Amino acid sequence: MRRFAAMVDSEVGRALRSVLDRVQTAAAKRPEHLPKVQPRLVAVTKTKPKELILSAYKAGQRHFGENYVQELTDKASDPEIVGQLNDIRWHFIGHLQRNKVNKVTGIPNLYMVETVDSEKLATAINASWEKLGRTDRLKVMIQVNTSREEQKHGTSPEKVCDLYKHVVENCPHLQAVGIMTIGVYDYDLRNGPNPDFQVLLECRTNICQTFNLQPEDVELSMGMSTDFEHAIEVGSTNIRVGSTIFGARQYPGSKPPPKTTPNNPNATPNDQQQQTTTDKVESTRQKLDAVNVNS
Ligand SMILES: *Cc1c(COP(=O)(O)O)cnc(C)c1O
Repeated sequence: MRRFAAMVDSEVGRALRSVLDRVQTAAAKRPEHLPKVQPRLVAVTKTKPKELILSAYKAGQRHFGENYVQELTDKASDPEIVGQLNDIRWHFIGHLQRNKVNKVTGIPNLYMVETVDSEKLATAINASWEKLGRTDRLKVMIQVNTSREEQKHGTSPEKVCDLYKHVVENCPHLQAVGIMTIGVYDYDLRNGPNPDFQVLLECRTNICQTFNLQPEDVELSMGMSTDFEHAIEVGSTNIRVGSTIFGARQYPGSKPPPKTTPNNPNATPNDQQQQTTTDKVESTRQKLDAVNVNS
């Protein structure tokens, strides 16, 4: 049992260190005019078991992200996580409905809600935080629908300043710390800089002008597994990375991702490299599960 846990620890630790190295390399490539802030890595653990959270924490990771309310509540309230990971910092990064606000604000070690997308939601979070009697302010980001896709949440780029203003002026229990976007999936960087990130940068310029702030006062949450280095190079200060650290996600009822074993003629060398960690962690996890069942 302990041997398998140690294997998970070392796989997750290795993947984390690799991502953090890539973060530093990308940060060093930023042009002079961008704030030289250390980008924050948020490890996204949705669909992943708590063993991987424990391993990542052991390897030094502190910021974790979840985007489903129930899953965040379950994990953040897990006795082992609450008891052992005193310094864990949860980011909520999913769509938040107003009737679920109290569930999110009530979790232990909530650090930030990255997805405020309406005045009503901001007002509800503010009221909920006040009701908890908290004397600190809850950090929030405004989510921007930079790609203007109907199925994506977030306020439109034109309305960001108004929403920011609402938080600053009418939500004394919240602290507006920045803006966040998801953007289109699978944008091909061979076509140039990701336009979603450029839109978020423009939003920040507008906010800075409107409120007389410096760029370092307004964080940018952008960049995921496939594009976090590019995101950092153009100014991201908060990246949200899941599958590159913890392996590809499997959703119930969906086909598992193709295995890129040497028997798979379609696997590219890069796929293989990516899948190695995933496969090892996944198979270790299955062994762990088997041990748990049998013990
Ligand atoms: C799942 C998720 C991520 C992480 O995605 P990966 O591609 O696995 O890195 C980042 N941000 C949000 C909002 C997510 O839902």
